[in-house]
Amino acid sequence: MGEGLQVTTGQQGAPAAGPGPQVLSIEDVHATDFPGTPLTVFGSPIRHSVSPQMHNRALAAMTRADSRFANWRYHRVEVPPERLPEALGLCARKGFRGINLTLPHKVDALRHIARVDPSAQAFGAVNTLRLDDDGLYTGFNTDGYGFEAAVREELGIALPGRHVILLGAGGAARAIAAQCLASRCASLHIGNRTADRLDALLALLKPFDNAHRLRGFDLASPDYDALPPDALIVNATTLGLKPEDPAPLDLGLFPPEAAVYDTTYGSHRSRLQRDAFDRGLRSANGLSMLVWQGARSLEIWTGASVPASEMRMGAEEALLLRR
Ligand code: NAP
Repeated sequence: MGEGLQVTTGQQGAPAAGPGPQVLSIEDVHATDFPGTPLTVFGSPIRHSVSPQMHNRALAAMTRADSRFANWRYHRVEVPPERLPEALGLCARKGFRGINLTLPHKVDALRHIARVDPSAQAFGAVNTLRLDDDGLYTGFNTDGYGFEAAVREELGIALPGRHVILLGAGGAARAIAAQCLASRCASLHIGNRTADRLDALLALLKPFDNAHRLRGFDLASPDYDALPPDALIVNATTLGLKPEDPAPLDLGLFPPEAAVYDTTYGSHRSRLQRDAFDRGLRSANGLSMLVWQGARSLEIWTGASVPASEMRMGAEEALLLRR
């Protein structure tokens, strides 16, 4: 974008849906006026993010019912890790009401914001920032909420009392694990390829495991007899992002009462999802988690109820255009 440009909204003041805004640099943000109420996502890389299309589609629908949202507009900004504090200060001065954080900022942001909502403490990471009246950001984490809402919607599964087998020990697994414990799952078995990373996650979660529901296992050679058969199996590894990726777990011994939630999403079905289908297990991919975490963020910023179905359509459309 050139210097001094003004970001405009869609027709009749409603935010435009469709292919999504261009990727802004921090220099673009410095040089641009943002009328109305700007929102954004920070990440590096950020080009792949479908959050602008998802949020702008929901805002367009919300504007039809309530003209207050006519000038709300969601952007995307490429923010390298070392420039996060600068980008946060800049967006606070420019009046960005909300910021979503994606890789690699979710943990680091904790050091640069004024407050963390108590509901985010267990996550050790924030993905949603809200600018408050004092001009400072409060951090929230909506990833765990997004996961719980997604498995309820798509698989009809409630986390309380449920056995969960979680594959992976990275950022996504951390949010999902914290949510499972907070929602009182019956047991949580976490498997990871690298032992050090698994041990670090188990140590982080231990203070929240007051009912001793937490177990770790080696994902490279699982002891299937030690895993609950009727579990909700959640893939939070990156295996499945590419169509040719193998499944992270052999579903051969699981009965039809088990179910699979694969946090990966894209234009193909993962091997794990295909195996689940072949064995008659319910399964879903991670698009719904993306949608519900986004819906919760937008609710936090607007204080209004958010049409998740519109968000889903915005995300699906953007993913189709990306093919
Ligand atoms: P991350 O922090 O980099 O963690 C990656 C995880 O994948 C680690 O546990 C890693 O194990 C495992 N892994 C990578 N390659 C593997 C392999 N060949 N075999 C077995 N395990 C392997 O990434 P993240 O941010 O947690 O993301 C993980 C997944 O969640 C991604 O697929 C991402 O798309 C998805 N996600 C979805 C949503 C959503 O809203 N749907 C949100 C966030 C993330 P090691 O420790 O052994 O390397």
